[in-house]
Amino acid sequence: MLLALPLRAADSLPDLGESSQTDMSPAMERRIGTSVMHEIRRDPAWLDDPEVYAYLNRLGSRLAAEVDESRQEFELFPLSDPTLNAFAMPGGFIGVHTGLILAAESESELASVLAHEISHVTQRHLARLMSKSGQSQLSSIVGLAVAILAARSNPDLAIGAAAAGQAAGIQQQLNYTRDFEREADRIGLSLLERSNFDIRGMSAFFERLQKFGRLYENNAPGYLRTHPLTTERLSDLGNRIQNRPYRQVVDSLEFQLVRAKLRAQQGTARDAVTEFESRLKDRKFAGSELAVRYGLAQALLRDGKAAAAERELATLLRLKTAAGNSPMIETLAALLRQKQGDAPGAIKILRAAQVRYPQERAIAYGLVESLLEARQPQDALRAISDDLMIYTSDARMHALQARTYSVLGQRLQQHRAQAEAYALEGQLSAAIEQLTLAQKAGDGNFYEQSQVDARLREFNRRLDEEKTLKKVR
Ligand SMILES: [Zn+2]
Repeated sequence: MLLALPLRAADSLPDLGESSQTDMSPAMERRIGTSVMHEIRRDPAWLDDPEVYAYLNRLGSRLAAEVDESRQEFELFPLSDPTLNAFAMPGGFIGVHTGLILAAESESELASVLAHEISHVTQRHLARLMSKSGQSQLSSIVGLAVAILAARSNPDLAIGAAAAGQAAGIQQQLNYTRDFEREADRIGLSLLERSNFDIRGMSAFFERLQKFGRLYENNAPGYLRTHPLTTERLSDLGNRIQNRPYRQVVDSLEFQLVRAKLRAQQGTARDAVTEFESRLKDRKFAGSELAVRYGLAQALLRDGKAAAAERELATLLRLKTAAGNSPMIETLAALLRQKQGDAPGAIKILRAAQVRYPQERAIAYGLVESLLEARQPQDALRAISDDLMIYTSDARMHALQARTYSVLGQRLQQHRAQAEAYALEGQLSAAIEQLTLAQKAGDGNFYEQSQVDARLREFNRRLDEEKTLKKVR
């Protein structure tokens, strides 16, 4: 990402300056990041998995909590991509490839890459690069960021574009980037240490990435391309870590479950089943038998064998008390009930789980889905409005509300809810279209009609604002 930003060679000397030394405000950065996120959500690689998403954000906030006096918001999101990469965008948005999560051999290793990315954000490296390059117009930066994202899995493309723009500046660009890399390593390492991870995870993972890179020669994993790893960087890290006391850190159950879930989605369903089965047979648990059985159940479910998956889950549940518990096990248990035609059974599991894990989004979504499956749309509607009182800007819940209203044949409400979902996803034009349909639905009372009218005025105003913003040069 950093390497990919075309820099003008005007400022050729590496000058890190102060993190505040940029004419781009944090609000502007957030705005740019949000616009790019709207594009990413429509990318085929966008992994719509609330459990993986929740896990990454919990891990991210554990690290970010150690940032001094930071009011920076972070949003981490998974992308379904086998390359080993993670990247920070303006405004605290951090993309994490599933390939990276699967390649990490411990949670500390994964945390080390996230800590590095979080440090790029807190040190405002992107804003500083963009200000320096004179690319501070919102529209050009958004266009640029989108182009970079397109090249995300094809780093050659990004490098190619940068090279064409400024062939002579490439070496300086690299030097410039290395300073940022060193700073992100140094600050990331301290975040890692303060949040009680094993700091050796950082050098171990980076060394492994470098070895991996050598193997692949010119097809180095993405992370090496966008965050150049140098021998210098590695020895820098080694020196910092050397005299620190050894710390044994146990991986969280969630880390292992997330990896098992992602592994179960890879390759063919049959291959995934075979892999988990052979791991069980050879008793190769690499940490947790529970996670391997969970992975097998996920793979069996994917292979259309819900009953076999449930038998696996029963064995898993006997291990559960010793190894701890996770909401991910509950959502899988409920899904398996539902897949076998027992929606009431799924509802029972999820209602009980919601009491224990009230903040778990996957449980809230699952419950609504199961209530719809059980043909209880009125109960679904109640669950949704309770939820939206707290999570007002949850696009997915608004979309579920639209679906529920559609089941109930309430057209005005259906289009109104869908409009909210679109607006939250940054699709204002689609939202306006839905509100126009709501106006024409003709099945609302006076109060509901005027609510729709007011919302339509508000969205039109926002759309105008967006257009003016894009015109500013
Ligand atoms: Zn980096």
